[in-house]
Amino acid sequence: MARALRTLDDLEVEGLRVLLRVDFNVPMNDGAIADDTRIRAALTTIEELRARGASLVLAAHLGRPEGRDPELSLRPVAERLADLIDADVELADAVVGEAVASASRRLSPGDVLMLENVRFEPGETRNDPELARALAELGDCYVNDAFGAAHRAHASTEGVARLLPSAAGRLLEHEVGTLRAVLEDPARPLVAVVGGAKVTDKIGVIEAFLRRADSVLVGGAMCFPFFAAQGHDVGDSLCEADGVEPARAALAAAPEARAELVLPQDLVAGDRFAADARRRELDGVDVPAGWMGLDVGARTAARYAAVIEDAGTVFWNGPMGAFELEPFAAGTRAVAEAVAAAPGTTVVGGGDSAAALVGFGLADRVDHLSTGGGAALELIEGRPLPGVEVLEGEGP
Ligand code: ADP
Ligand code: MG
Repeated sequence: MARALRTLDDLEVEGLRVLLRVDFNVPMNDGAIADDTRIRAALTTIEELRARGASLVLAAHLGRPEGRDPELSLRPVAERLADLIDADVELADAVVGEAVASASRRLSPGDVLMLENVRFEPGETRNDPELARALAELGDCYVNDAFGAAHRAHASTEGVARLLPSAAGRLLEHEVGTLRAVLEDPARPLVAVVGGAKVTDKIGVIEAFLRRADSVLVGGAMCFPFFAAQGHDVGDSLCEADGVEPARAALAAAPEARAELVLPQDLVAGDRFAADARRRELDGVDVPAGWMGLDVGARTAARYAAVIEDAGTVFWNGPMGAFELEPFAAGTRAVAEAVAAAPGTTVVGGGDSAAALVGFGLADRVDHLSTGGGAALELIEGRPLPGVEVLEGEGP
């Protein structure tokens, strides 16, 4: 039994400065925000804290700057947030320091100050105690709502949480609660659909679900290491060499697992990874030389959709094929439609799976669209999330 997560219900904030870590790592396109979902996802916490009479000092990162990089300034993010909350958002010109500290002390209830990109400070990713101390100067208490960064022990996600009264924001609380419920107390049958490109990233997720779920449906390029381990021809399919042994081990363990491990029974192949590639439907899973498997076939898609329809809980991570290419999108679309229509609880994680759902116009038809790809997968694998653990139990 995990120790209880401290939440905003446990924190006195009225008249105080709250240092609030958020995940505003939005995709940028030529200096403009391409998708502000992550900013919107933090609004519940931001509005609650302001309504409760706190002033806010927001800490966030953008990209992977090497030192101070004006291209990765949070200015566009501060401007978008100001629009969304219809209030001024002051952008500090640094992360920490005397000028920033005195700006934080001038805040009145409801005011919002945003720090510059925390990764401008090299101590951030090293979880430097000195940077954590400097951050702790900027708030009277600390709230972490950055679920997408919770699997990293950084100064603004872990170090500072040890120095101030601290709690989870509403988004982080909801993400952790939803994903833990999938693992610990799911309505059954629990069906996990795992696809995407890199089996080595996700084999731990498949193993975790083989222990806990009722069915694990594998798609995308994830299936080729399994097929290679079974002795099938994979042709030119994306098949990670390092994935074959873990796939073999998962296949060997499958008979004892709680869940049924389900692999595709037919495929759609292309002669290259392109929208105008030659396309061929394969009745089976052997991929001829010169061809690559780029989608699951129609029989597989129908079977997966039927299993999803009967699920009490569905967790989906990773597209069933190269869905960005229209000729190879049908399998992902079929799964997305089945997840959207499923009567059970539906949880989707992963940037590309979320993008696929948005592209099909189905994003609002799932119960929970996780904002934290890597963090969600690590939680499901049962790995400790440092940014969450530090908010559990008694606290400082
Ligand atoms: P997510 O972001 O949802 O976790 P991934 O990043 O693991 O998903 O995988 C998404 C990528 O996988 C997409 O770019 C898609 O084109 C690719 N992909 C899926 N199936 C295949 C396949 N059979 N061959 C090559 N690439 C694939
Ligand atoms: Mg991805």
